[in-house]
Formats: sequence, C-alpha cells, structure tokens
Amino acid sequence: MPVLVMKFGGTSVATLDRIKRAAKRVGVEVAKGYDVIVIVSAMSGKTNELVGWVNETSPLYDAREYDAVVSSGENVTAGLMALTMQEMDVPARSWQGWQVPLKTTSAHGAARIEEIPPDNINAKFGEGMRVAVVAGFQGVSPEGRITTLGRGGSDTTAVAFAAAFDAERCDIYTDVDGVYTTDPRVAPKARKLEKIAFEEMLELASLGAKVLQTRSVELAMRYNVRLRVLSSFEEQSDNAGTLVCAEEEIVENNVVSGVAYSRDEAKMTLISVADRPGIAANIFTALSEGGVLVDMIVQNISEEGRTDMTFSCPTDQVARAEAAMAKAKEDGIVNFAELIADVEVAKVSVVGIGMRSHTGVAAKMFQCLSADGINIKVITTSEIKISVLIERKYMELAVQALHDAFELDKAA
Ligand code: ASP
Ligand code: MG
Repeated sequence: MPVLVMKFGGTSVATLDRIKRAAKRVGVEVAKGYDVIVIVSAMSGKTNELVGWVNETSPLYDAREYDAVVSSGENVTAGLMALTMQEMDVPARSWQGWQVPLKTTSAHGAARIEEIPPDNINAKFGEGMRVAVVAGFQGVSPEGRITTLGRGGSDTTAVAFAAAFDAERCDIYTDVDGVYTTDPRVAPKARKLEKIAFEEMLELASLGAKVLQTRSVELAMRYNVRLRVLSSFEEQSDNAGTLVCAEEEIVENNVVSGVAYSRDEAKMTLISVADRPGIAANIFTALSEGGVLVDMIVQNISEEGRTDMTFSCPTDQVARAEAAMAKAKEDGIVNFAELIADVEVAKVSVVGIGMRSHTGVAAKMFQCLSADGINIKVITTSEIKISVLIERKYMELAVQALHDAFELDKAA
C-alpha cells in the first residue's frame, strides 16, 4: 500500500482534544488506502519545560542526560496518539526512536540521522497495522543511548521517514496554514504561496522563516520528498497549505517569491588589516575556532597595503567575535587597529529562483530602499537571493516596501 507521512507539531497535539482531531485526519487518509506513518512532536511548551528542568538541575549538564530528559515529551504524545487511533478502531502502534531504530550520530543535542531501516515497521504493516506513530526528534546513537536532533527536529524526522519509506508525500501539520511571501505580522499584505521550490524554502528557512527546520528542507531537497505545510486547525482539503517541491513542478512563478528578514544581526568592521595573502584566512579561522557564525563578508578597497574587513554575525555572538579577534591580535596572527561593532542592524533579503533568468532585481531592490531613504550598509548575493544589512529601525519598513515593489501580494 502507498505510504503517507503526516507530522503533527506541538500545537496540533497540545491537548487530548487536539490529538483526537489530528487522529481523525489520519483516519481519513487510512480510509483512502494509505498506510500512514505519523510523526509527533511533544505537546506545545513541553520541550521548553524539560529543557528548563535540565538547566535548573545541572547548568553544565551531561548532554546524554539532557537527551534522556528532553526526548521524553514525544514519547507521551506518540503513545496517546496510538491509543486514540485504537479507540477509533484503526490498528495503530507507537514507536520510540530506538525501537524503529532511527540511527543517529552520537552528537547529543544535535545528532544527525544516519539510517532508518524500514524492516521493523514494514513487518507490522504486513501484519495489518495501518498507522505507525513515531516519536519525533529522537533517535539512538551507535553506543545505544537516546539522542535528539536539535530543536524543531521532528520536521527532520518526518522528512527522513518519507525518504526511507518512499512516501507519496510528507504532510507537516502546524499552526500556520502555509508558507507566506513574508511574515504577515510585519507585512499584512503577505500572501500564502501555493507552491515553493526547495531551494527558495531553504533560503527562507535559514533566513528565519520559522515554519520548517532548515535541515528538514535540505533533506527533502536531497531526496526529492514533496512536503506540504498546512494547518491542523482548518478544514481539510486536497490542495490546502503550501507544497514545497522541485522547481520543475512550478510552472508560473514570480521573479521574487519572498522577502525574509533577520532582526538580530551585527556588523563588525576590522579597521586597517594588512592586505596580503593569508590574512583573510587567518581572520576567519580565528572566528570559526571561536565558534562565531559569520554570514556576510566584505573586503574594502585597500590603501597603502592596509584594508578594512567587514563581516556580519548574530548579535549574541559579538562578544565571542571580539574575544576571538583580541586573542588573534595578541598571538600576532592578525594585526588590526580596531574592531568596531554596529549592533543596530538587521538583514533583509529577497529570494526567488526567477532571479536566475531575470535581470534588474538588484536595481529594483536598491531603488525601492533608496526611495524610502534607507541606507544600505552591506550587500551580498547568491544565485537566488539578494541580502542587505540596514539600520534595524527601518527593517519593517523595508520588508513592506519590498513586498509592494515586487508585487508579492499578487500571484504570478
Ligand atoms: N519538541 C521538540 C522541540 O520543541 C521537537 C519538535 O517539536 O520539532 O524542539
Ligand atoms: Mg516545529
């Protein structure tokens, strides 16, 4: 029988009533003839509570015990969902990660999935089980200990199961009804997209559109898993939500598909570093060894063999960056006059696969920002994205203006 993966996020299983509502949706698909793998999150708020308990008990906790505690929220919802399905006379069974087994690396707290052998679950489907309810977010390490996949990881569990079982589709039920052209709280004219390409979704997810865990989109792209994001609070229909799929499936699309933003960025400028081979390598080696996540990088024009180097990082990593550069200076690895941190900046990006074949997107973006008197501090581009750093107080204005300029409120 064809397999469908259905994932229910924390708000969709927050109460027994909501679990019942989710179970009914699963029942509809079972009645259509699917064998269903249901992936559940913990009840909303539960994982935060468990993380809090761990921190309170042991601030410098042993990550193996962190995983033992925080993975438990999903065990509860998996069992309750299986019981609810059984009450509806649908043969169902719950599975914890180790029982499948969902094999991961031993990087506790941020483990990566290595393998999901489908045999155990398939054997049960063969015996008449129609629904396998799997606890999301968790797996088992080569040492046989419970691991977790990082916050939001049950999206990744769902996509990995869809790939391992060659599922027809992976439906992600959440508290929003799809993927929008931008954050509707920032730009009320934001429009729900019917379809979005994997690559665009990847850019939007990593730029802070918190609908899907970034790794789940990477995985979906690699294995060509069709993902549908939809709300569990709305009436069910076959074309509800947003389909995240391969580019080839999208016939009509705007040049720009979405505007993303990230509020907490910092612009760091190293004044007067030597302009000679190896210096950039030394700077960014020092930053990476200091655990700083560098995003944009710009090297300015040099004068008399000295240049300024600018990079961006999240605001909460400014102290790390400063410490790493101070150490590099002390060790004689990088010589610079000063490190200036501008922590009042935000990043705004336009994303769209249409940029590959259309010119003028950058010009339009910069004209739009200048018309509103917004100064651009740093620019970076990729094949399908243009990002700028601007003063943070203009972030909302910039998102709205760009949304208007690229007419994202209208479908292609
Ligand atoms: N419950 C976990 C979390 O809150 C995993 C998930 O829901 O995706 O991060
Ligand atoms: Mg989530």
